[in-house]
This record gives sequence, C-alpha cells and structure tokens, in this order.
Amino acid sequence: MDRTGKCLCGAVTFTAKSLGDASACHCGMCRRWSGGIWLGVSTKDLTFTQADAVQTIQSSQWAERGFCNKCGTSLFYRVTADGKFAGHTSVSVGCLDDASGIEIGREWFIDRKPEGYTLAGDHEKVTEAQVMAMFAAPS
Ligand SMILES: [Zn+2]
Ligand SMILES: [Zn+2]
Repeated sequence: MDRTGKCLCGAVTFTAKSLGDASACHCGMCRRWSGGIWLGVSTKDLTFTQADAVQTIQSSQWAERGFCNKCGTSLFYRVTADGKFAGHTSVSVGCLDDASGIEIGREWFIDRKPEGYTLAGDHEKVTEAQVMAMFAAPS
C-alpha cells in the first residue's frame, strides 16, 4: 500500500510506500510531540516531494522525529540507533491524504495511557517494561 500525504500548511508533501500496520503510542514524548495519541504507520520508503520545511529533532538516544518547521506538523519517527530496528520509519497517520484501510496493530506504552480514553479493537498492547526489554535486547 502506498499513500501520499502532507503537513497542515502544505510546505511538506510525501509519498510513503509499502505501508505496514499502524501503531498507537501513549509515551510521554509522543503525546507531547503530537498533542495526543500518536498514530504512526510503518513505511519502507518515505520520499519527500517537497522537503524544504522538513526538520528533524533527535528526541532520544535511539530515534529522531521529523516535523514541518513552518506549521509544526508531526511528520515521522525514525530509529537512528544501530541494531535490528535501524532506519525503521513510521509516518503520521494523520498526515495521510487517505487513511482508509489502515489498521492499528498495537499500542505502545499502554500503561502510560491516560485513563480518560481507550482505543477500540482487539490488538497487541505493550507495556513500558516490555518496550524497554525489546529495545535493550541484543540485536
Ligand atoms: Zn507545514
Ligand atoms: Zn511514543
């Protein structure tokens, strides 16, 4: 599945190819960065058709986040650390021109989710301790 997308102001446009399933993340960084639950969908190839306003911030020792430096839209998350997840990229579901057919496969940091909302559906739910164990494991 390939999809096009853009930021709020239109300065950034992209094509995301070979989309996988989507993940929701409830960690404190994603909630601040996106202003809520961050929904990202994995992509094997994120190509910018307009990239002048794309800026990245190293948000942790293992990943960077891309955003539009004109309107602030949260665009993508990319693993920068070495290891089996190196280069893994997820693009914001909210930026896609058409998000139909994209299923949520898992929720990360389920134990960090504020209790006032819950996502419907039957999918994998991963706790903070499980996330840390996955990423700390030798790769
Ligand atoms: Zn923008
Ligand atoms: Zn997160």
